[in-house]
Amino acid sequence: MDLLQLKELDDKYILNSYKRYPLQLVKGEGVYVYDENGKKYLDFLSGIAVNALGYGHPRVLKAIKDQLEFLIHTSNLFYTELPVRLACKLSEISGMNKVFFCNSGAEANELAIKLSRLNAKSFSEDKNVLICMKNSFHGRTMATLSVTKSNNYAQKFLPLIETPAFVELNNKDQLAQAVNDKTACIIIETVQGEGGINVAEKEYLQLARTLADKHNALLVIDDVQAGLGRTGDYFSFEFSGIKPDVITLAKPLGAGLPMGAVLMTEKVASLVKYGDHGSTFGANCIVAASAIAFLDVIEEENLLDNIKIVSAYLFEQLNTLKERYSFIKEVRGRGFILGIELANLAGKLHLKLMQEGLVCNCTAERVIRFLPPYITTKKHVDEAIFIMDKVFSEIKT
Ligand SMILES: *Cc1c(COP(=O)(O)O)cnc(C)c1O
Repeated sequence: MDLLQLKELDDKYILNSYKRYPLQLVKGEGVYVYDENGKKYLDFLSGIAVNALGYGHPRVLKAIKDQLEFLIHTSNLFYTELPVRLACKLSEISGMNKVFFCNSGAEANELAIKLSRLNAKSFSEDKNVLICMKNSFHGRTMATLSVTKSNNYAQKFLPLIETPAFVELNNKDQLAQAVNDKTACIIIETVQGEGGINVAEKEYLQLARTLADKHNALLVIDDVQAGLGRTGDYFSFEFSGIKPDVITLAKPLGAGLPMGAVLMTEKVASLVKYGDHGSTFGANCIVAASAIAFLDVIEEENLLDNIKIVSAYLFEQLNTLKERYSFIKEVRGRGFILGIELANLAGKLHLKLMQEGLVCNCTAERVIRFLPPYITTKKHVDEAIFIMDKVFSEIKT
């Protein structure tokens, strides 16, 4: 189907909650995607941090195909091996004790909020304030909207069901003032993705840990976007040395298939009794097989090292562009979650980059966001920089 026809049917039959880019994708291979005319694009967005191994990784395809012959879904009423093997692996890389599997980031955060309720209620009935960050994004269910403060997503849906208190990321005084015995949890993205690629500082995370301990609140790290390797470590907060009570995961976990997970300490896990939570689809055999393959490939192909090396190069190249183009205000992020903040609204700049063959997007109105797949090499970076240079040089300032 050509793009015009497709757009018409999409508009007519699919709920208009997404403003799509004028691009139809039909195929992917490695770090490239192709449109219906065979035009090739370098994908530095990875399906919003999902396709961490790019497209069609043979290990992932094989894991899925092999498992298809046996079982797709059984329900969580029965024992199955692959989810257990995946849980072992997640526990091993995180040092957390228990895992709950769900299907998305919002669902993972939904459980994190329920867990902080359970914990809070063991202290007092009115311990119900969730400390969250300005410019945060945790999902679009009613509970996760309550702790989300970017782009006014929550505005039309008031009243929400939780009691949030918003503080500024990295403002230690504000955090110290906000947290008290009424605090049920502190929820932080170590790198705010939707909010404009804002990076939490080490001392801030450490203070959050200290305050949560002091006031019997849970420290929840939402690693849905920045976790599972993207920063060059398995978990985005590792550099700070803290250990959260709860970690939420999703985007890259299923290597393209929908999967979320909540990792927690033994202490938090012990609050949950049979029936307190559940998910019909949580961790079917296919997505578990795909997720195991994803984690195996990170290890086998030394992708964390690759991210560290190539990311340093990408930062260097972006900073060179910044020196040449005065409308670039800042280059920031960590590993393969990074953004360039522009002096003016980014407008349609990301669309121009796409037209020239580089897929990326725009967050927080002025930040061009890059989430390249973990298999990105310096050669791909050169290609991306070449396209940016071409598009930027045509901008009249
Ligand atoms: C995308 C995202 C979510 C929501 O995940 P969904 O799978 O869309 O529900 C939550 N938190 C963060 C940090 C995210 O980037």
